[in-house]
Amino acid sequence: MKKRDYYEVLGVSKGASEAEIKKAYRRLARKLHPDVNPGDKTSQKRFQEIQEAYEVLKDDEKRRAYDRFGHAASSPGFDAESAAGYGAGRGPFPGGAGSPFSNGTFESTDFSELFGNIFGGASRRTGPERGESATGTIEVPFRDAVLGGTASLSLRREKECPTCGGTGRVGKNVCSTCRGAGRVAEDERLRIRIPEGTADGGTIRIPGKGGPGVRGGEAGDLFVTVRVTPHPYFERSGDDIHGIVLITVKEAYAGAEIDVPTIHGTVRAKIPTGTQGRQKFRLRGKGVKNPRTGETGDHLYTVRIAIPTNRTPAGLDAATLLDSLYEEPVRKDLPKGL
Ligand SMILES: [Zn+2]
Repeated sequence: MKKRDYYEVLGVSKGASEAEIKKAYRRLARKLHPDVNPGDKTSQKRFQEIQEAYEVLKDDEKRRAYDRFGHAASSPGFDAESAAGYGAGRGPFPGGAGSPFSNGTFESTDFSELFGNIFGGASRRTGPERGESATGTIEVPFRDAVLGGTASLSLRREKECPTCGGTGRVGKNVCSTCRGAGRVAEDERLRIRIPEGTADGGTIRIPGKGGPGVRGGEAGDLFVTVRVTPHPYFERSGDDIHGIVLITVKEAYAGAEIDVPTIHGTVRAKIPTGTQGRQKFRLRGKGVKNPRTGETGDHLYTVRIAIPTNRTPAGLDAATLLDSLYEEPVRKDLPKGL
């Protein structure tokens, strides 16, 4: 797999300030932390990815070297000084030997700081304790993920026993409802709001739907991972949506106005004169609204020229006539003698 750009990984611009980078990292770390997504391999990988990106971008020197040399800067054996010397005659690191890439020391990040407000203080033994967080997965249709919608999720949750109030006892006896456990399992159906622009693998946090609190503590949160069902026609790439549109030979040759399906509905669009197969066109603002930036991506459609599949003498005449119109051989720019 090709290594992604560190700025892209954190979703920040090349000119992002230290504070912006830190903020982006913390937001992603909260979302992708393994405690929040137990057993989710994709989140795990993403989590490692953001860790790595942050280790480099938070450090002035490492960031500068990365800006200059890219991922090569952090690969084993890379010598920033000689690499810089090769290009510009001078190393970027005063003092020479202190290349920041000589070893792979990673500072540990204090996750209790990140998660303090989510998981509550688990170490307090006597006071109320917040319930554990729970995870779940829902499958969401493409359309609902892009435009927003609702989904329902069935889950079995533990709740405080209503008979004994969680103590496990009624008077001197063991509670008969929960048999002393203080908790009972209950099936629950949740309606979940899917925010507009939700991406495959995204997480929705539902407060208070995790495990029950202890000694009067609040219930934990439920983290639901969204799996977006692929669409038979549309394909999403970031905030853009792609589709294919068939046109006739005449529409390609003479130009036309056609209906292009987008997730927001049909859009009337111009096909310019002399359009070639596989040409790509863009309908601005007809893609996915990014929930973070509030900006909407585009709809991109690729043109395919459909040729009639029936063979008739008239068709052959028309094709022969078309053939005589090329000003140059169509394959003249292909490489020769390979
Ligand atoms: Zn009970």
